[in-house]
Amino acid sequence: MTILDKLQQRKDWSEDERIVLDQIQRVANDVIKSNAKEFDRTAEFPWANVKALNELGMNSIFIPDAYGGSLMSYRVYLECVSIISEACAATGIIYATNFHAMKPLIDFGSEEQKKRFLPRIAGGGLASLAITEPGAGSDATGMKTRFTPDGDDIIIDGGKNFITSGDVADLIFLFGKWSEIDDPKGAISVLVLEKGTKAFSVLRKEDKLGHRASSTVTLSFDGCRVSRTNLMGEPGDGLKILLASLNKSRPSVAAHALGIARAAFNDMITYTNDRVQSSKRIIDFQGNQFTIADLSTELALTENWLDYVGRLVDAGEQDFGIEASTAKMRASDLAMRMSIEAVQMHGGYGYCKDYRAERLMRDAKITQIWEGTNQVHRQLIGRSFRFK
Ligand SMILES: Cc1cc2nc3c(=O)[nH]c(=O)nc-3n(C[C@H](O)[C@H](O)[C@H](O)COP(=O)(O)OP(=O)(O)OC[C@H]3O[C@@H](n4cnc5c(N)ncnc54)[C@H](O)[C@@H]3O)c2cc1C
Repeated sequence: MTILDKLQQRKDWSEDERIVLDQIQRVANDVIKSNAKEFDRTAEFPWANVKALNELGMNSIFIPDAYGGSLMSYRVYLECVSIISEACAATGIIYATNFHAMKPLIDFGSEEQKKRFLPRIAGGGLASLAITEPGAGSDATGMKTRFTPDGDDIIIDGGKNFITSGDVADLIFLFGKWSEIDDPKGAISVLVLEKGTKAFSVLRKEDKLGHRASSTVTLSFDGCRVSRTNLMGEPGDGLKILLASLNKSRPSVAAHALGIARAAFNDMITYTNDRVQSSKRIIDFQGNQFTIADLSTELALTENWLDYVGRLVDAGEQDFGIEASTAKMRASDLAMRMSIEAVQMHGGYGYCKDYRAERLMRDAKITQIWEGTNQVHRQLIGRSFRFK
């Protein structure tokens, strides 16, 4: 048994958690992994994979029981994201985005809002989180989408780009600025936009390097009217909600990146044990063993760090932003490095589509860019060591 197998085996899951993890592993192997290549080729939205996840009720594991869910620990959720992403990164990010968009609603929504919205997602709906705009990427406070109060309604004008699942989502957790507040940060507010709302349209779908089956779209709002009852908290509460929700979504994107890293590592080990050159398996060459040693060590340490962050969240810790940044940066850098090395170990075959190493390399790149680019995370982590 390898150190990575032992690491998995020694994780102290409860019996219920083990059942859920075994079920998701089975569906990942039998359905999601088998579909992944074709969805990547066609860039079609992976409805069959989403259906398979919904048959297991996977959204319900992050939604409290009172709102139609069957809440489990954050650690279990993170492990599920890794398992799904190992099988298909595009399906993994679609699933994780449901969590990213709904967790702030769970943490900050009113009782009435939670009762109205959460059962839809618990029952298998898709959700989207809309922050980014053409002029507001790493600095989200530059957003221009405008929320103007009008009696019992709010009128939305503006647009968002790069929104995962924005064209298929049942609910969009949408950030904008309150027209009556002048302060550029203090004006940030957030509301829930429901599918089918008028004067809201999808302008464009991106043709991407990786995650091809996950849709990434540009949204436009032109006098789009929603009820004021869809506003989270008070006007101006958005920045607080945004920062708190990023802390929970960053370990989640780390888990997604780790899934890609695991897939690349496993493929590399299978191939190097199988491929023979100069009458030797290529794993028997010392140079390749050094690479495998470095990468397996990185994988083990990153898995453990993420597990540590998961435990902090489950214990109710509030101050874990830098720990979350560390997990995101480390896991995504590892996914990129691991997938490049996996292609390299496959030689010329790694460059061709018969093996999935090339897809993993394409899928890995975005993990260093979204949910805060790794330059931004390095800045946050470095800055945290400044003397006050
Ligand atoms: C496939 C995909 C899916 C996405 N899904 C979503 C989604 O569902 N919802 C959503 O809201 N957004 C989403 N995004 C947007 C994503 O989060 C942004 O692309 C990301 O935050 C970077 O913003 P930007 O692209 O505008 O780059 P910019 O912010 O313009 O950055 C350009 C470069 O400058 C660097 N840079 C910028 N600021 C700093 C700084 N302070 N210090 C050092 N370097 C800096 C960056 O690191 C980067 O290398 C998605 C993007 C993609 C491509």
